[in-house]
Amino acid sequence: MRVRRAVIDAIVEQARRERPLECCGLLIGTGDEVIQSRAARNARASAVAYLVDPRDHFDAIRDARAKGLSVVGAYHSHPRSPAQPSETDIREANDPDFIHVIVSLANEEPQVAAFRMNDGQAIGLPLAIVD
Ligand SMILES: [Zn+2]
Repeated sequence: MRVRRAVIDAIVEQARRERPLECCGLLIGTGDEVIQSRAARNARASAVAYLVDPRDHFDAIRDARAKGLSVVGAYHSHPRSPAQPSETDIREANDPDFIHVIVSLANEEPQVAAFRMNDGQAIGLPLAIVD
C-alpha cells in the first residue's frame, strides 16, 4: 500500500491537535494508493477508542465517489499506546478489505502502521510512503 507523505503529515497533525483524545478519519484513494485523508469526528470522544461518526463516513463516501475514488480505509490515533490494533479495534473491524492506519504518539517520534483486520486477526501491511 502506497501512502502520500502529505497524508501521513496531516494525520499526525490531527492526532496531535486532538490529543489526549483519539482522532480518526477516512482514507481515500484507489485499490493500492491512499491519495488523501479526510478528518472525521470521533463519535466516542474517547482517549482509548474511536468510532468514525457515521455522517462523516457517509459524506466521505459521497465525496470520494464524486472524484472517481473510494474510501479504502480508516485511520485513528493512539495517543499513549503503540501503533498496534487494540482488542476493540480488531473486534469492531467488519470489512476485510479495509485498511486501518494507526498513528501512535506514545513516543516522541510518531509511529505509523497499517493493518487489515479479519476474523479476529490483524495482519500488518507494508506501507510505502511516497512524495
Ligand atoms: Zn485503536
